[in-house]
Amino acid sequence: MLENKHGMMFVLSSPSGVGKTTLTKKIAASNKNFNISISHTTRKPRPGEVNKKDYYFVNKEEFDFLIEEKSFFEHARIFDNYYGTLKEPVLKFLSEGKDVLFDIDWQGNQQLKKDKNLSLVTFFILPPNIKVLKERLFNRHKGQEKLIEERMNKFNEEISHWNEYNYVVINDDLDECFNKIMKIINLEKRGIKEEQNAEDIAKKVHELIK
Ligand code: ADP
Ligand code: 5GP
Repeated sequence: MLENKHGMMFVLSSPSGVGKTTLTKKIAASNKNFNISISHTTRKPRPGEVNKKDYYFVNKEEFDFLIEEKSFFEHARIFDNYYGTLKEPVLKFLSEGKDVLFDIDWQGNQQLKKDKNLSLVTFFILPPNIKVLKERLFNRHKGQEKLIEERMNKFNEEISHWNEYNYVVINDDLDECFNKIMKIINLEKRGIKEEQNAEDIAKKVHELIK
């Protein structure tokens, strides 16, 4: 087991466009002890994204090399691109007592969960409704109808993994959602789990996939 002086790992996953990147950055900005795990990806940067800050943008050969070297904690193919989390920087943060935030998908979460030695707390974020989700995707990808459609088509598959997570929260009002996550994180850091009603969550998920 990791000793107490080690940091904890907090995973945020959601269907595309729900707001996990926004929430991850907000959590990291709230306290210097949180560090975001910066992933490697073969996808192209979006306008405003900065190499080594938002992602390490690499080509497929560089990505494959890191797989061969066994440098990844986890990696996955998502849409037509590859994404992965390096082991070394995460282990360094944890050994320094820092907490690490992961904005990764359900495949990455499944891989991290296999390592029972990790102090891992996982969140699945839901949108308040589909209309709001489409608006968020539309704002982020103005004019890219095909890309929005592709991401919406993946929604049902992604949301079906909600019950693989410790906590499910709805990102309607950003501050409210942030406060809810921070409350859970602060309790978890004291070893306390918050009870969630799985039936209510299942009902909400059912509404969203109707
Ligand atoms: P994800 O990382 O889950 O794909 P993002 O964090 O990129 O999603 O958010 C998608 C878009 O929605 C962004 O333009 C972001 O600014 C916006 N957004 C995120 N959360 C909220 C919220 N609670 N209310 C309104 N807009 C939001
Ligand atoms: P985007 O291209 O919108 O930034 O991210 C697409 C998806 O990839 C999101 O669900 C995001 O959480 C996920 N993702 C980002 N980095 C990683 C990673 O290192 N590993 C895995 N498994 N998923 C990631």
